[in-house]
Amino acid sequence: MAKSLQIVFDELHILNKMLSMGTKLTKVLNFTKLENFVPLILVLVIICAAKPALHNKQLKIIVIDAGHGGKDPGCKYDGVNEKDVTLQIALATGKKIQELLPDVKIIYTRTSDKFIELHQRADIANKCEADLFISIHCNANKNSNVAGTETFAMGLHKAEDNLDVSMRENGAILLENNYHDYYEGFDPNSPETHIILSLYQNAYLDKSLKLASRIEQNLGKQIERTSRGVKQAGFLVLWQTKMPSVLIETGFLSNKSDRELLKTDAGVDKISTGIASSVAEYKRQGESTLVKN
Ligand SMILES: [Zn+2]
Repeated sequence: MAKSLQIVFDELHILNKMLSMGTKLTKVLNFTKLENFVPLILVLVIICAAKPALHNKQLKIIVIDAGHGGKDPGCKYDGVNEKDVTLQIALATGKKIQELLPDVKIIYTRTSDKFIELHQRADIANKCEADLFISIHCNANKNSNVAGTETFAMGLHKAEDNLDVSMRENGAILLENNYHDYYEGFDPNSPETHIILSLYQNAYLDKSLKLASRIEQNLGKQIERTSRGVKQAGFLVLWQTKMPSVLIETGFLSNKSDRELLKTDAGVDKISTGIASSVAEYKRQGESTLVKN
C-alpha cells in the first residue's frame, strides 16, 4: 500500500514538474506552440488518475461456497453426506483465511444445512463484488479405489472423467424450481449441453488456474493424498461468477480412506489449512505483481 501510494506521489510530482515547465514555456513560447502540450498533459493526467485504481486492486472479499445443502445431500456413502463435509470444510477454511489475512472479508453462501440454488451462489459473489469464489465439494466414483483431490477451473473438459464430475455437480439443478428460467435451457442430463457450457470463455481463467494449482500443491502437502491435478470442466456454479473461481473436490466419499479423512475433525483441519495457505500465497503473489506493474 505504502509503495503504491509512493508511486502515485512520484507520478504527481513528475506531472507537477511538467506543468511548471509548461508555465515557464509560456514565457518563451507563443500560445499556439503551448497548445501542442495540452494533449500530452491530458494523457499524463489520465495515467495518474488510473494508477491508484490499479495499485489498490487487492484481494479484499472472498466468497466460500459449501456445496449442496438442505434437500440436496450431494453424494452419500456409508452415512457420510457430502453437504455436511463441505459445510465443515467451508467454515474451517473461512476461519483460517481470516487468521492469516485479517483484512480480508469472508462471505459464506451458507452457514447451515440449507438448500441454495446454483445460480444464487454466483449471485451472492457477484453482488458483493467478491475478488475470489471458492466452491467446496466431495467427489464420487463407481470405482471405490479412485481417491485423491482435484481442483477445477471453468473450461473445456479434456477427459470423460471431468465431464462425469461436472454432470454430477450440475445435476443439483434438477432439485430447483423453475431451473429452466435461470440456465437458458441447460439440460443437466445431456453431455452436449455440458460441452457448450464449458466453452464459455472465462476472463479470469489464468488466475483461477494459478490458485487451483496452489491448492493442489498445498493439499498434497497437508493430507499426503494423490493430487489428481488441476482440471477444467463446465460447472453451472462457476458459470456466471465475475471473478477468479475454483471448485475443489476435496476427496472421494466413495473411497474408504478418503471418506475416513473427510469425516474427521483432523481431516477437515488439514484440508482447510491447505486451502487457506493457498489463498494467502495467491494474495501475496497477486500483490507483488501489482507493485511491479
Ligand atoms: Zn458436490
